[in-house]
Amino acid sequence: MNKENIQAFGNLVDRADRILIISHIRPDGDAVGSLIGLGLILEELGKEINLVLEDGVPKVFHHLTGFDRVFKEAAGIYDLVITVDCSDIDRIGSVLDEYGEPDVNIDHHPTNTHFASLNLIREDAVATVELIYDLTLALSYPLNQPIAEALLTGLLTDSLGFRTSNSSPRTLRIAAELQEQGADLQALYRKAMLEKSYEAIRYWGKGLGRIQRDGGLVWTSLSLEDRRETEYPGRDDADLVNVLTRIRDVDICVIFVEQKNGTVKVSWRSRPGFDVSLIATQFGGGGHKPAAGADINGSLDQIQADVLEATRKFLTSGE
Ligand code: 5GP
Ligand code: MN
Repeated sequence: MNKENIQAFGNLVDRADRILIISHIRPDGDAVGSLIGLGLILEELGKEINLVLEDGVPKVFHHLTGFDRVFKEAAGIYDLVITVDCSDIDRIGSVLDEYGEPDVNIDHHPTNTHFASLNLIREDAVATVELIYDLTLALSYPLNQPIAEALLTGLLTDSLGFRTSNSSPRTLRIAAELQEQGADLQALYRKAMLEKSYEAIRYWGKGLGRIQRDGGLVWTSLSLEDRRETEYPGRDDADLVNVLTRIRDVDICVIFVEQKNGTVKVSWRSRPGFDVSLIATQFGGGGHKPAAGADINGSLDQIQADVLEATRKFLTSGE
């Protein structure tokens, strides 16, 4: 992201009336925060906004103003199509199948494939919301309490509450500015990061019950049966992988989540010094050095075997 492409973005927005903004499947706080934050900003500028997430907004973000304005499908004709927090075109799901390539791609993933006409990427940003914040500063866009709450949510969730090694003094300065705009950091932290449903904690129990360790590698899995038994309504890991990262003296954690469509969602987490995005890309996924994921076709057992083999190889090759 530089002066020229920020100005190019401003010009595209100036010329557009109907704008579609989308983010990725299985949306996290940065996806939702970037989507709603940018949507509310552009709406303040007088634009007609359509916000789309193929999987909808997870319940944990239903306190954000504008969550009920997010649809699961695009409809009609748009002057401008923007993706936020999507590292590649597959992450969007099928929302754009009838629309073709997006116009603008705003993201912070090092594995971003620059799939749009205009790509605003900053790899050192903790979250995509940081880029949205930078755009509002550079282009003098409005910032108000609901916008600040959406942006602070993305900052909190992608930095795991300012715990990731890329959380910088600047991250905290942005958070402070968003607090001054009226965002309640403690309340947002509790809602987005701490609170879980009873069902989610029981689902964790299933995964924790079959956790395994081999030296610096820890892994577990969650099956469709676990989901049914605990009545957990999501198709993700309910953030269990971030619980695994709390285990002492572990280099890499992996979690396998069985999906209804015959794929398995794999998430890797690592301590500094181990770039798990390199393993994820081997399996068609992507992400960041400390946190990466992939959606892989096949059975839970087979994928678990393949991924553990590749991850062990990666660890022993001294990467
Ligand atoms: P998580 O494991 O929490 O789903 O994701 C960790 C990181 O990996 C996030 O930055 C996310 O964007 C990325 N990621 C997760 N799943 C996929 C995937 O299927 N494809 C790609 N390209 N990136 C993914
Ligand atoms: Mn993100």
